Amino acid sequence: MAEGIAVDTHVLRLSSRLGLAQSEVASKVEEQLMVLVPRDRWIRTTDLLIFHGRKTCGARQPACGHCPIFTLCRFEGRHVLAHRVG
Ligand code: SF4
Repeated sequence: MAEGIAVDTHVLRLSSRLGLAQSEVASKVEEQLMVLVPRDRWIRTTDLLIFHGRKTCGARQPACGHCPIFTLCRFEGRHVLAHRVG
C-alpha cells in the first residue's frame, strides 16, 4: 500500500491546472491529493498525471487542442491554446 502520493514537477503542474490542489508547495499538494484520491489509487494517480504531463500537458506548450480531459481542466489559458495554430 502506498504511503503517499509522489509529487514531481508534472504532478505539481497538473494538479494546479486541473484544479485538484491549490498550492505551489509539493508537500501541500500531496496532502490535498491524499484527501481527494482514495488510497488504493494513489500510485495510479501519480502515474496518470506524470504520463499526461509528458505526453499532452507540457509545461511550456500544453496541447489543449488534443487534450482528452479538456472539459475537466481549470487552466485559464486552455481555450486560447486549444485554437493555436502551429
Ligand atoms: S486542457 Fe490543456 S492545460 Fe488542461 S490538462 Fe489538457 S493540455 Fe493541460
